[in-house]
Amino acid sequence: MNIHEYQAKQIFAKYGVPTPRGLMAESVKQAVANAETLGGSVWVVKAQIHAGGRGLGGGVKLARSLEEVEKLSKEILGMTLVTHQTGPEGKLVQKLYIEEGADIKEELYLGVVLDRAREMPVIMASTEGGMAIEDVAHNTPEKIIKIAVDPAIGFQGFHGRELVFGLGITDPNEQKKLISFASKLYKLYMENDAEMIEINPLVKTGSGEFLALDGKMGFDDSALGRHPEIEEMRDVSEEDADEREAGKYGLSY
Ligand code: ADP
Ligand code: MG
Repeated sequence: MNIHEYQAKQIFAKYGVPTPRGLMAESVKQAVANAETLGGSVWVVKAQIHAGGRGLGGGVKLARSLEEVEKLSKEILGMTLVTHQTGPEGKLVQKLYIEEGADIKEELYLGVVLDRAREMPVIMASTEGGMAIEDVAHNTPEKIIKIAVDPAIGFQGFHGRELVFGLGITDPNEQKKLISFASKLYKLYMENDAEMIEINPLVKTGSGEFLALDGKMGFDDSALGRHPEIEEMRDVSEEDADEREAGKYGLSY
């Protein structure tokens, strides 16, 4: 089962993984009210669908006034968003996430996936965040570092050091922040029986903070019985579309 970005970010926040502040909206009126509640002067209006590539498809846009939040929310809510992950028929946008704009200095990638053969979670990271990580994996696989974590010993200091050195992060303060970020991410991955987490981009801000700007999470269906609060995040309208998509290729989703 997959969840929306705004839901993944709720889980991140619960574990102290830094994310920009944001609020979900199901109407244009609510979207504007959310922007007012968040305050500030730059917001991002983000389509909530179970697919990536929303930015390139026109589903993630920056607003510099409440009027602009309203205009963009009108455009995006109810649109059929086509991305490289939705198939040509696209997906209907039924929810928005209104988020405070971040001051992006660098875009990294950080994920945790299950290596089925080794039965171990693997932390994946790259300095080449923000673009389709699939392309990086395909064209320049050496730019993705992979760190397997034996669940019997958990996330240790040496995993953290491998991560920051692999990413070329030399500032001790930044190293500390990113190691703490990754260790919390590993913890929430394990405690929630997640199958995959993908943060693309994980950004470094102008003030040297690390923030999860995007968040994708998938769960092992057979473990959901242990996590009723995650089962509650199920969005059936999205799953039907996932199933139709999988069905076209003769797969059961
Ligand atoms: P997707 O991966 O589906 O395209 P993202 O959440 O990654 O969606 O957003 C696409 C791009 O929009 C990001 O790579 C980033 O450059 C920009 N973006 C997203 N959220 C914010 C934010 N809160 N502040 C500033 N820019 C953002
Ligand atoms: Mg993204």
